[in-house]
Amino acid sequence: MTTTNSMRPYLGRLAEIRDIAAGIKLFQVEMAEPEGQAVVAEYRPGQFAFVSAFGAGEAPFGIASIRGPHLEFAVSALGHVTHTLHTLEVGDPLGVRGPLGNWFPMDELEGKDIVILGAGIGGAPLRPVIQTVLDNRDDYGHITIIWAARNPDLLVFTDEFDEWGAAPDTEFHVTVDQGDENWSGNVGLITKLLEQVDPSADGAVAITCGPPIAIHFIFLTLAKLGFTPQQMLTTLEARMHCGVGKCGRCNLGEKFICTDGPVFWQSEIAGFLEGFL
Ligand SMILES: Cc1cc2nc3c(=O)[nH]c(=O)nc-3n(C[C@H](O)[C@H](O)[C@H](O)COP(=O)(O)OP(=O)(O)OC[C@H]3O[C@@H](n4cnc5c(N)ncnc54)[C@H](O)[C@@H]3O)c2cc1C
Repeated sequence: MTTTNSMRPYLGRLAEIRDIAAGIKLFQVEMAEPEGQAVVAEYRPGQFAFVSAFGAGEAPFGIASIRGPHLEFAVSALGHVTHTLHTLEVGDPLGVRGPLGNWFPMDELEGKDIVILGAGIGGAPLRPVIQTVLDNRDDYGHITIIWAARNPDLLVFTDEFDEWGAAPDTEFHVTVDQGDENWSGNVGLITKLLEQVDPSADGAVAITCGPPIAIHFIFLTLAKLGFTPQQMLTTLEARMHCGVGKCGRCNLGEKFICTDGPVFWQSEIAGFLEGFL
């Protein structure tokens, strides 16, 4: 239950901007109004918010951190709003409407092994999941993180790889579809690395996010490795306008991604994901 008004953009200010991959910036937003602090206090891993660039419009983004007093968003410059956001500077105002949507059931997942599969900027909404399991390490079983991007320049949160790899009872693997002259790591699709790593499905849940085509093939690969539809979670993106289940723009079958999701079990979206590709 949130106390924020989901139709009202609360005023925020850019506290920090970091380039985290080619064409992707991480924005740290300090909420300027006391009511807006509730967005930070009530946010749960997997939820999203609409960020408004004044004069350009608003767009939805997964909230990318649970740590610290500020909100974080990883924004890939794709179109009008996102390019405008990329022109902003520290101190500039913007609006934040949220938190919106459902969330990863981190309480239900306690005691389980967790496999986290992040493809491209799809890693952004998974970062709060990684932070949650690492900050509460004793509450979860073995953690396997598998990270991927089309090329090394597009890997997000590379400066956190050491922390992830060094965490107790945690393994970290990374791959790129295509390497470059400086890359000496794995090359190949995330599904190839997933098969090689071959995490046990016994008592485990896999959580993934990425382009729909990647999610589709990750689910198929996980099924081959023994994961059932009740052991696979994802978070979906869609063209979205209102974010509160009124406009119907983001429907997936009978479900709205904004209010029934964005987090879904594979069993909830089986049969729909193919139409989404
Ligand atoms: C729940 C949710 C979470 C999201 N999280 C993130 C995130 O963490 N980081 C991030 O960079 N983006 C995220 N997105 C996508 C982001 O909302 C879009 O990239 C943004 O709306 C583009 O707006 P724009 O005005 O810049 O682009 P537009 O000018 O509207 O469009 C530019 C191009 O992008 C395509 N496009 C626009 N929106 C989407 C979309 N939702 N999915 C696929 N293609 C789209 C358009 O078809 C067009 O080709 C998320 C979307 C949703 C629904």
